[in-house]
Amino acid sequence: MPEAHGAIDRFWSDRVRQLHPYVPGEQPRDQPFIKLNTNENPYAPSPRVIDAIKSCADARLRLYPDPESISLRETIAGSLGVSRENVFVGNGSDEVLALTFQAFFSAGGPLLFPDISYSFYPVYCNLFGIEPRKIPLADDLSLDLQPYTAPSVQPNAGIIFPNPNAPTALALEISSITELLEKNTESVVVIDEAYVDFGAESAVVLCARFPNLLVTRTLSKSGSLAGMRAGFAIGHEGLIQALTRVKDSFNSYPLDVLAQTAAQAAIEDVTYFNQTCQRIIATRERSAARLAELGFKVCPSSANFLFVTHANHDASRLVLSLRDAGILVRHWDSPRINQFLRITVGTDDEMEQLHEALRECLV
Ligand SMILES: *Cc1c(COP(=O)(O)O)cnc(C)c1O
Repeated sequence: MPEAHGAIDRFWSDRVRQLHPYVPGEQPRDQPFIKLNTNENPYAPSPRVIDAIKSCADARLRLYPDPESISLRETIAGSLGVSRENVFVGNGSDEVLALTFQAFFSAGGPLLFPDISYSFYPVYCNLFGIEPRKIPLADDLSLDLQPYTAPSVQPNAGIIFPNPNAPTALALEISSITELLEKNTESVVVIDEAYVDFGAESAVVLCARFPNLLVTRTLSKSGSLAGMRAGFAIGHEGLIQALTRVKDSFNSYPLDVLAQTAAQAAIEDVTYFNQTCQRIIATRERSAARLAELGFKVCPSSANFLFVTHANHDASRLVLSLRDAGILVRHWDSPRINQFLRITVGTDDEMEQLHEALRECLV
């Protein structure tokens, strides 16, 4: 390397200087931790996924992937009772969300989302110059949609929230979402269903009725494919075309050959998919009860993680003690939730080790 002249950031544009990038949960490269910090699935993908990847690796890697992901989109459409024209796929739902922000939320006015929610939303606002308007969750951390239709937030650039919400794990009923959509007809409403397969009601059934509804999903959590990067969105054909225009102005091939094949096989193996989700739900319920016995307050979870707080033990200290015991969990040093831990539901064995470690921390 030539000797450095000047500061490392001397070629940065003002825009780059002003970015606040998202900070993902730790992916340890050395020590073998029990990873309960990034909501990955503790179970391997379906064996059919591995077979599908193997059989396409030889024949297909030489060629570009299908830029329209037709086969995958048809599989997704079939599994949800919609048409291929209602399905958009991307390199993880994070990419689908980024394209969504560009396609729909840049029109001016604030984008409404909960004060406690997926921390990528404010990052995309920052990147795309969208004004964020955070609407506080209720005191019990539930998501009240009433304030989203108040006159003070009209007009808005759009509304986005996860259902179940992250990191609270609390789910909304479809009736509240319907009511919101009946009242908010002039901007796009995005429901981020990253965790819906773990027990919440999906809003996909509402897409036929509300042309401004976009539902996003991912194969990273319930599909055991976080390493593959495959996500999708369901909505009116017009919304999907807008997303496609933005995608094709940036990257024609966001999903590689292996990701398209793997995602399709994961969705096709319905039995495996459902069994895995049911196992995680059963473990979640057992763990929630045991954490409550240890004195934790546990938010009722419809996701593959638990959001918990302990009246007598500081959350950031618990994180460090668990780390010493070889267990990673997630914690945010942010207002309202700095005394909470977000614990991904692992295998029964991993949750047993978590329980043991916590018991020792709490004495
Ligand atoms: C994990 C997660 C995503 C992103 O998932 P990928 O498909 O892995 O990019 C989106 N939204 C929420 C709320 C998530 O927790």
